[in-house]
Amino acid sequence: MRLAAAEIQISGILLFIVMSIFGLSACAEDDFAGQRRQMISDIQATYRSTSDYTGKPALDEKVMQVMSRVPRHEFIPANMQTYAYANRPLPIGDGQTISQPYIVALMTELADVDKQSVVLEVGTGSGYQAAVLAGLVRHVYTIEIVEKLGKRAEQTLKRLGYQNVTVRIGDGYHGWPKHAPFDAILVTAAPEKVPAPLLEQLKPGGKLVIPVGSQSASQSLQLIEKDLSGKVFVHDVLPVGFVPLTGEHQ
Ligand code: SAM
Repeated sequence: MRLAAAEIQISGILLFIVMSIFGLSACAEDDFAGQRRQMISDIQATYRSTSDYTGKPALDEKVMQVMSRVPRHEFIPANMQTYAYANRPLPIGDGQTISQPYIVALMTELADVDKQSVVLEVGTGSGYQAAVLAGLVRHVYTIEIVEKLGKRAEQTLKRLGYQNVTVRIGDGYHGWPKHAPFDAILVTAAPEKVPAPLLEQLKPGGKLVIPVGSQSASQSLQLIEKDLSGKVFVHDVLPVGFVPLTGEHQ
């Protein structure tokens, strides 16, 4: 009889522990949802303050929807979790960064993609930009030169259930001819000059969004449009500071 009472007490304690764990994780999810809302409003504020450069006073609705859902904290190292939704770049290891959410939003919007688009990203990094694109397009091909980062991003994307992203380790300077031409190409590391293979692999009517410039001087985020006849138009959108496009090609 005393044993039965002890058992009841132990199961009660276990039940309490289980409920606390679930309660805590539900609470943590709510915290992240709130932080994501705050991140979106911070992005909106940056859109307003940079509109003289970009001509864009407000964040595009469909980009906002997708960024409200993608769990940025899943792409961030554990020791950086507190800052996961801050509107700034964060270190992800190997001297690399996950881009500032505002820049992710702006680059995504400039790429002007839709559900039929096939997109190339150069510089997978954490996989976050690829995840944002994945919510808007048919398929994302993404290339990362640092093997450790590329493998980790691939695992994160797989764990979170993204089925329309393919990650490859390699030098993205050369693009990915097998899957070209692309409706849009986003480059998240800065070369000194636009890589010719990327221009070649852009579809007529497509958009290339790329930071261009050296590390010592200023860089410009460029929107490069190829019209239906293949003619290329370059627009300087915003002064930026990206990590360099590395590799043996230059
Ligand atoms: N898009 C990333 C994200 O969402 O986390 C952020 C990318 S980080 C600013 C730039 C990335 O480009 C780094 O991970 C870097 O290793 C990668 N990179 C640099 N040069 C590269 C190259 N030639 N080919 C492919 N990736 C490159």
